[in-house]
Amino acid sequence: MNIHIMTLFPEMVMGGLNTSITGRAISKGILSIEAVNIRDYAFNKHNSVDDYPYGGGAGMLMQAEPVYQCYQAIIDKIHTQGGADSELCVEKKKPRVLYMSPQGQTFTQGMAEELAQEEELIFLCGHYEGIDERVLEEIVTDYVSAGDYVLTGGELPAMMIVDAVSRLIPGVLHNDVSAEFESFQDNLLEYPQYSRPEIWHDRQVPPILLSGHHANVEKWRREQSVIRTAKWRPDLLEDAELTMKERELAEEIIENREKDLKNEE
Ligand code: SAM
Repeated sequence: MNIHIMTLFPEMVMGGLNTSITGRAISKGILSIEAVNIRDYAFNKHNSVDDYPYGGGAGMLMQAEPVYQCYQAIIDKIHTQGGADSELCVEKKKPRVLYMSPQGQTFTQGMAEELAQEEELIFLCGHYEGIDERVLEEIVTDYVSAGDYVLTGGELPAMMIVDAVSRLIPGVLHNDVSAEFESFQDNLLEYPQYSRPEIWHDRQVPPILLSGHHANVEKWRREQSVIRTAKWRPDLLEDAELTMKERELAEEIIENREKDLKNEE
């Protein structure tokens, strides 16, 4: 997968993504990530890319033209250097452009799975008070939010999404199995996990995990996933496929939790 990140702070983005697992995937050539500086496409001698918003109001806005020129340069590069067999090159299809915005759809694991299927992805990071609406209308395909809070820029959300997407690409994780069952798969949170030593601070690893009985371990893990999801994220269970017994267990935990909360009030 080729990832292009349009930003005013390329060092920030690449400093993070060149580290650890994504960094290793870049060195191995499984992933290509480039941060493109929007300021390189400024069209005035001061290299500024922001201006006052029409109608007044606080703060500055990123202008449409530098963002558009930066985008166009990425598109030209994809179409000319993408390799003859690239679907995007052959059909001159437009890649998805994700604008990081608190107004967008909140990012989920499901979105990560969907984005991991793409050949090329373009991220657009805003700054200041955001970006002139006209260029957004022209180039953006997806508005994606990190959550219901406002950050100073789109760089951290872009890095977060690139991280979540890249670990789903075959070969990026050392062991592909470790992406197999994880939180949010089947709308359940992952079960608790333990490593050596068997006893730490008087806390014993659950004996079933030492039994070597694979089927029982799997049964225990599934039950723990249901219990944990019912306790911490009961909203997820609405779309989870549970057996009758698991549904009863979840309902019991949710009821007890509601009682505890009432008692605390
Ligand atoms: N004035 C904008 C509003 O109220 O919607 C917020 C602008 S914010 C200060 C500057 C930039 O940070 C945005 O253009 C966006 O790219 C990024 N940003 C801030 N919060 C974000 C969030 N929760 N998710 C994704 N991007 C965010």
